[in-house]
Amino acid sequence: AQERYTSIRQKPATSLCGKRVTLFMNAGLLADLPSLPTSGAEGVGLFRTELQFLIRNQMPRRKELVETYKRVMDAAGDKPVVFRTLDIGSDKVLPYMKPNDEPNPALGWRAIRVGLDKPGVMRMQIQALLRAANGRPLSVMFPFVAQYEEFRAARDEVQKAVAIERKLGRAVPEKITIGTMLETPSLAYASKKFFEDVEFISIGGNDLKQFFFAADRENERVRRRYDTLNVSFLTFLEGIVQRCSESGTPLSFCGEDAGRPIEAVCLAAIGLHKLSMRPASIGPVKSLIMRTDLDALYDVICDARERGEQSVRESVLEYLRWNG
Ligand code: PEP
Ligand code: MG
Repeated sequence: AQERYTSIRQKPATSLCGKRVTLFMNAGLLADLPSLPTSGAEGVGLFRTELQFLIRNQMPRRKELVETYKRVMDAAGDKPVVFRTLDIGSDKVLPYMKPNDEPNPALGWRAIRVGLDKPGVMRMQIQALLRAANGRPLSVMFPFVAQYEEFRAARDEVQKAVAIERKLGRAVPEKITIGTMLETPSLAYASKKFFEDVEFISIGGNDLKQFFFAADRENERVRRRYDTLNVSFLTFLEGIVQRCSESGTPLSFCGEDAGRPIEAVCLAAIGLHKLSMRPASIGPVKSLIMRTDLDALYDVICDARERGEQSVRESVLEYLRWNG
């Protein structure tokens, strides 16, 4: 099926109204990397580092992580890679760690909460990233940050690690870009200072949607009730776009919805112009973006919202059908 999209692989994802959308791929294993050139992705917008931890039956050593990250950076060459620090807990339980038996794991001790409370593994990971970069630029982002202070504390860990590497006489990256995922509604309402301070934000739509609607992302029964194209959710996302544009904060979206063509064009229409998705989705998403007038689609979304529709999906589908 990918052959269908070879003719547009090298083309930029530019909409009919001239908006340039940048499409990145999500990855997590070395086996994903050959998809970087073949998918037409402009970089890796989300490298889920926990997969390296989940596929083993014991904690990986720092040396192994350096080797893995180095191979990822080598394979990416000039294309950017955003490494997300360990996102464990909730649906991702490491087989060699004691499960923490929480009644609500999705709302529990996970991701950056673990990283800050028990920083050993995150420190090892950051050190491995710095060593793998060996002077090359590095981009790091933290999962599941719910408030400004958590971002600051996590960034301090990176800065401390850099200082240590320097002391040891090792090369440190020429540029380190430090950002965060936005996966809880709380972070969308953080102070202006946060938006000015963070170097980039990536919306984790899977978790953000689960918390926005209070609907477990793993529970088919409740998950399906709430459409991503629900007016409330789109309006909420638009608010984040607005805040980021006021502070000049680069913003992307990396949940599964970015890889669904209809959802992707709607996200682009409300101003999300950087989307990261599984490699196989890049072709279909790009193809639809290239055939869509995002300004006109935005009007369709606004009209549907004005009319009081619960979800803009039907109106959007009708518009896209009529416009080929
Ligand atoms: C998300 O929550 O949207 C996300 C990209 O992270 P993950 O799916 O790994 O939780
Ligand atoms: Mg998430």
